[in-house]
Amino acid sequence: MEEKHNHKKEEVHSHSEHTHEQTHEHNHELHEHYGHINNAEHKVKIILNGKEVLCSSDEYLIDIAKRENIEIPRLCLYDRLERTANCRLCIVEVELNGKKRIMTSCSTKPAVGMIVSTHTSKVLEHRRINLELLLANHDLNCPICPKNLHCDLQKYSSDLMIKDTRFNGVRRITPVDESSRSIRRDDNRCILCGRCIKMCNDIQTVNAIQQNFRGFNTVITPPLGHTMAESACVNCGQCVIACPTGALTEKSDIQHVIDALNTPGKILIAQTAPSIRATLGECFGMDPGQNVTGKMVNALRMIGFHKVFDTDLGADITIVEEATEFIKRLTSGKPNDLPMITTCCPAWIKFGEQFYFDQLNHMSTCRSPQAIMASLIKTYYANSIQKDPKDIVLVDIMPCTAKKFEICRPEFKNEADFVLTTVELAKLIKEMNIDFVNIGNSDFDNPLGESTGAGAIFGHTGGVMEAALRTAADWLEKKDLQNIDYKEIRGMDTLKEATLEIAGHKINIAVAHTLGEARKLMEEIKTGKSKYHFIEIMACYGGCIGGGGQPAPCTAEILKKRTSALIKEDEHKDLRKSHKNPAVIQLYKEYLGEYGSERAHRLLHTSYYPQEYK
Ligand code: SF4
Ligand code: SF4
Ligand code: SF4
Repeated sequence: MEEKHNHKKEEVHSHSEHTHEQTHEHNHELHEHYGHINNAEHKVKIILNGKEVLCSSDEYLIDIAKRENIEIPRLCLYDRLERTANCRLCIVEVELNGKKRIMTSCSTKPAVGMIVSTHTSKVLEHRRINLELLLANHDLNCPICPKNLHCDLQKYSSDLMIKDTRFNGVRRITPVDESSRSIRRDDNRCILCGRCIKMCNDIQTVNAIQQNFRGFNTVITPPLGHTMAESACVNCGQCVIACPTGALTEKSDIQHVIDALNTPGKILIAQTAPSIRATLGECFGMDPGQNVTGKMVNALRMIGFHKVFDTDLGADITIVEEATEFIKRLTSGKPNDLPMITTCCPAWIKFGEQFYFDQLNHMSTCRSPQAIMASLIKTYYANSIQKDPKDIVLVDIMPCTAKKFEICRPEFKNEADFVLTTVELAKLIKEMNIDFVNIGNSDFDNPLGESTGAGAIFGHTGGVMEAALRTAADWLEKKDLQNIDYKEIRGMDTLKEATLEIAGHKINIAVAHTLGEARKLMEEIKTGKSKYHFIEIMACYGGCIGGGGQPAPCTAEILKKRTSALIKEDEHKDLRKSHKNPAVIQLYKEYLGEYGSERAHRLLHTSYYPQEYK
């Protein structure tokens, strides 16, 4: 699927506009000369690297080649983003009616009789030149780059056996922007591919970064010389996922965690978010969608954590509080109480606080599972082991760059100490020389380690809503319902909706992922046109399995595999409803009282306020 939003289109890299136009000119020329490029979709036969291939006239050559297991390099093309054809690495040789041309395969569609060669000497030489031009003013300190060994620019340079660049560009040295709690921006490694701008502006509609200045001085920064921390950035990290180099990375907390692990007298606790188990294996070469829960817990113990708790339990607690709140709002009779919007995602919360600060009453007051667990670990658990919370160092293992920002919000002060993303945890495991693929399994610790299938599915889009509905429907119907799979809100569509009949209530629900979709829903609410009663919003495409701290790339194909791992975990659990979790029941009985009690509100809920940005 290709997004067609065109916010701030006039600010697109001038080079990319030029090359894009050139490619269209080429296509137009071919069209005029031969009349073979078809407008209406139909099947076309082409010759691809000597083999006859049947394809649709609406496909692009780069995608046809991929289907035929031929990987063509690309640096500006990324899943879901508009094609700009500006890096020119994907060039191929195209022959039509005896005439040969070099074309960009990301923007060229097949025509009858077309002969396409993807790796001729001429193509490889052109690719090398284009890559060397990109490298000419690039910081080439690869071993000390945060993306070392995970960088597309580095991979293609190696694939094309680039040893040096024949173009000696003047290197511009720019200070690294470390102002944000979540994102590190290093212009010295930027190749101006434009993916981050498209992601931030077209998909997320945040417009935190743009192309500034011209020619040699071009940089990708927030507008008017502001830093990332001062900008509208909501820390979602979707630009980090899209960036093919080390120019945008997560802000690392690894050294802080190593220091804490080596501080005598401290109790080191880790909690791991639902999605990590479905993605961490990829950092060690395992296939997407392998559940590595046991290895992950074992690795954390080997690193030196004294206790490892499961954030899935925090998700179960979020659900009982959220379902309580939803039923209260649904039955209150007050029109402004609905729709209620989930608040597990700190990037969405900051987005709402910045752009829809007059609609904050629609946000559930429940904390995210991470913040709920942090609160309980520093109160209930510290109390149960008779330790001063100050002696506990809590490290949250999250899919998410925005969680680094969340733990620094003043209302969560003194709770979680550090957040490591999936990618950072993998780096730490490698630094400790742990053979992740071959280590055995270990179980979570109790009492904060027991969870249900409802907690597991929090990691993918639609999961929070599905988990909440399982509990809310049981409570409204006053039954133990058996049909608990809400399949209509699963899948990768960025907006999913359904109407449910529950205990005489007709409930319209919506599930949105990406902030562009969130914006559309919020505009409807603002103008009083929303038909929904309950909405789930997650900032990242696919939900947390596609979070800014996950291993890249996060293509729809990979995200589907990660989602399947979580759905499988849910289906194999004996308990699949949050309110049936014995650990939740015990916690309320022992410590929190009733669902929605005064203590539960103090420890498990929060409030929101307008956020300013420059
Ligand atoms: S983290 Fe998200 S909001 Fe911030 S610049 Fe990147 S894409 Fe934009
Ligand atoms: S920061 Fe990364 S994604 Fe953005 S233009 Fe530079 S290289 Fe491309
Ligand atoms: S969707 Fe998940 S990973 Fe992405 S910002 Fe929200 S909480 Fe973080």
